[in-house]
Amino acid sequence: MNALELIGLRAGYGSIEVLHGVSLVVPAATVVALLGPNGAGKSTLLKVASGTIATTDGCLHVGGVHVNGADAAALAQAGVCRIPEGRGIFPNLTVAENLRMWTGVGDLRPAEVAERTFGRFPRLGERRAQLAGTLSGGEQQMLAMSRSLVVDPAVLLLDEISMGLAPIIVAELYELVGTLAQQGIAILLVEQFAQTALAVADSAVILSQGRVTRTGTPAEVEEHLAAAYLGGAA
Ligand code: ATP
Repeated sequence: MNALELIGLRAGYGSIEVLHGVSLVVPAATVVALLGPNGAGKSTLLKVASGTIATTDGCLHVGGVHVNGADAAALAQAGVCRIPEGRGIFPNLTVAENLRMWTGVGDLRPAEVAERTFGRFPRLGERRAQLAGTLSGGEQQMLAMSRSLVVDPAVLLLDEISMGLAPIIVAELYELVGTLAQQGIAILLVEQFAQTALAVADSAVILSQGRVTRTGTPAEVEEHLAAAYLGGAA
């Protein structure tokens, strides 16, 4: 079953259309890499899929259910979890307080949330009383990603999780991505480093100027990447 499906989807900001009829599918338990040059509309697509931006045309399906017009809260309820670019954590709250903010989303109690998170990321456990804004970049991203451990999403949307991080931390985060997919979660990820994304992805999509120009296996899509990023016909 396709956990997430976009059919001819159009969206944008005010009168400016950014996505000009995008179709893609993310089956359960798979990782789809969404690649493409700057300004192609990748982040916009994740915002539409999480209900942050409304569609103007086309269809959005989550778990086979038509959810056009549903807002972010309704889509979160339907199992969509977006980890935004820039991490989306509360810098002036401690690690433990950040985790407590998420307990309302899932059914877990605070102690269970902490157990799951600190079990996966012991470094966060050691820093549970530290303000999130003072964590290293990698630790902040771990905290952001821990949301996906807590809310049991059906669809996980990841925007540039490697941004500004050391390769060893990126490898750790992507190991978690692979594990989450194995657990059945459908993952759509935007990643600046195409090779990093393709290494974990089951399939990939190239978005250029608001249109899908290629869809295929990582190997098929990789062949067309250079042309896409240089602005030629992908
Ligand atoms: P990048 O790889 O650079 O992050 P992207 O593929 O994620 O790019 P988007 O961030 O989705 O691209 O932006 C697509 C287009 O929408 C760009 O032209 C951008 O300027 C525009 N855009 C993004 N956010 C807004 C906004 N809040 N208001 C108006 N236009 C916006």
